[in-house]
Amino acid sequence: MTIFEKIIAGEIPAKIIYQDDLVAAFNDVNPQAPIHVLIVPKRVIPRVGEAVESDQSTLGALMVAAGKIAQQLGVSETSKGFRLVINHGRDAGESVPHLHVHLLAGRELGWPPG
Ligand code: 5GP
Repeated sequence: MTIFEKIIAGEIPAKIIYQDDLVAAFNDVNPQAPIHVLIVPKRVIPRVGEAVESDQSTLGALMVAAGKIAQQLGVSETSKGFRLVINHGRDAGESVPHLHVHLLAGRELGWPPG
């Protein structure tokens, strides 16, 4: 079981801030911005580069959930804003082999990212 499966199963404590049939979201334990939410599929896809055709609805659900969560947290106005990040593999800094979308907001985010 991945760490995120354990969180979804309630075996590791985390406040689930959003969930639907396909995805769940909770705050990152080591936030990189005032708002740092992880949005994960309930059924494990290890990483985005391993997603297949049958994962399309789950991938779409991650994006729709991100928009809803941004709205819920009050950062979806373009005068504020948020960033979505998916890390795949070593060079991107992936550390948990369970696909997750980082939603970062609450401060001005530098570009290009490090
Ligand atoms: P990655 O580096 O794989 O893109 O992101 C993994 C993220 O998961 C990191 O930002 C890390 O802080 C977060 N994380 C790792 N373990 C836990 C945990 O047990 N609980 C929560 N809420 N986040 C975690």
